[in-house]
Amino acid sequence: MEQLSITDFKRLLDHALTQIKVRENEFSQLDAVIGDGDHGTAIVTAFSAAVKSAEKGTEFKAMLNDMGFAIMLETSGSTSTLLGAFFLGMSDGASGTELDASGVKAMFASGLANVQKQTQAKPGDKTMMDALVPAVEAMQADQSQNIKELMQAGADAAKKGAEATVAMKANFGRARNYGERSIGYADSGATSWSCMFAAFADAL
Ligand SMILES: [Mg+2]
Repeated sequence: MEQLSITDFKRLLDHALTQIKVRENEFSQLDAVIGDGDHGTAIVTAFSAAVKSAEKGTEFKAMLNDMGFAIMLETSGSTSTLLGAFFLGMSDGASGTELDASGVKAMFASGLANVQKQTQAKPGDKTMMDALVPAVEAMQADQSQNIKELMQAGADAAKKGAEATVAMKANFGRARNYGERSIGYADSGATSWSCMFAAFADAL
């Protein structure tokens, strides 16, 4: 697959929402270990707002911008701030109705850059950045012109990153207060973002 159309992208979003819904309870249970246990609901609500907004999209830049704003307007909390920032950032890095491999890479790099403006969290802090940062970096490093291969490289890195959070101690936000008790469970956000990247790859 050398071109990603708007239709392909909508299919990828729909599949990600389906997969996130399947695992909603798991994300909330992981969040309950070191937080308020609402992450499953939060990510499903935020992603649903984005997907609903995307239905009427006809080109990447406006569609991604609308998705980001739909999340920010319809939901609140850190999950929606970060997911909204991701799509708004992707909007900055995308244009037209079809993207090639370098266009897809630029779109995801721009999404990450905007998330990095919203959070000080770094890989190793046991947050969603443990999935997002390696995923986008793996995509940038992949030389394939095949977009499915690129997305698979991102999905594999996100999965590895999320799995690595099991051994980590929470080092960011309120979760930091749980200290040693946070060890032994994957981070909810890293797990849900990894689920999203896996679905993106599977949908293509
Ligand atoms: Mg929470």
